[in-house]
Amino acid sequence: MYINIKDISHKYSNEDEDLLVLKDLSFSVEKDKFVSIVGPSGCGKSTLTKLIAGLSIPYKGKILISGTPVNSPRKSIGMAFQNPVLLEWRTAVDNICLPLEIVSPQMTRKQKIERATELLEMVGLKDFSQSRPSQLSGGMKQRVSLCRSLVHRPEILILDEPFGALDAFTREGLWRTLKDLKTSENFTCILITHDLREAIYLSDEVVILTDRPGTVKESVKTNFQINSNSVDELYSKEATKMLAFLRKQIELSHTKL
Ligand code: ADP
Repeated sequence: MYINIKDISHKYSNEDEDLLVLKDLSFSVEKDKFVSIVGPSGCGKSTLTKLIAGLSIPYKGKILISGTPVNSPRKSIGMAFQNPVLLEWRTAVDNICLPLEIVSPQMTRKQKIERATELLEMVGLKDFSQSRPSQLSGGMKQRVSLCRSLVHRPEILILDEPFGALDAFTREGLWRTLKDLKTSENFTCILITHDLREAIYLSDEVVILTDRPGTVKESVKTNFQINSNSVDELYSKEATKMLAFLRKQIELSHTKL
């Protein structure tokens, strides 16, 4: 297994008490697969992404990537969040170049711009490379944010509800973009989402977490390969059945184990 999350527990401590957020949580992800994580609000999903990215260390258990324990932030991970947080004083292309300035200082400016432009082209925003964030729509900003998270060619992309604030049509457009990016850039993806259609459309497997302290309630292979790039297949009988199954599992996940 490429990403191995082994029996981790994590807590936040303040002066008076500890808040146990994740408890004995284990699952693994094969290389180049797409896994979605769903679960009740506050069950520790974002915390889990920070642990995988090495931004925090679990107090119990371990996380291995290619067999190596994650003890610190890694260059081989890209992240994008619900709020794209673009820098207004930089153009779209310069926002995308930012990670390269940190992790690839040996690249020339021309090489960085070429790489960022290649991604902008893939997400359909080549003509907006010189736009400032305030000149872009919410969906466009999120496209730029996706480009920024992939510009340094990470092996793993972690997405924390990246499309949660977008309207339904914009969101579906971004699903297609993400699918295209996954094909051309080839990364292993972990997506936190509340949207089961999104999870089914994009992922190979859906991991369902329980209420806090979050642990794995169920891991469901979607067995549902959407080959075409059309979201119409999400309205098929097979997809509806899968959605109903996942909804039921999530309902059950609210019952304490
Ligand atoms: P989710 O992403 O599933 O909504 P989070 O991982 O964001 O859950 O948060 C899980 C719990 O941990 C929440 O109760 C939240 O308030 C708490 N929490 C998150 N980050 C911190 C922090 N840095 N310090 C203290 N408590 C935190």
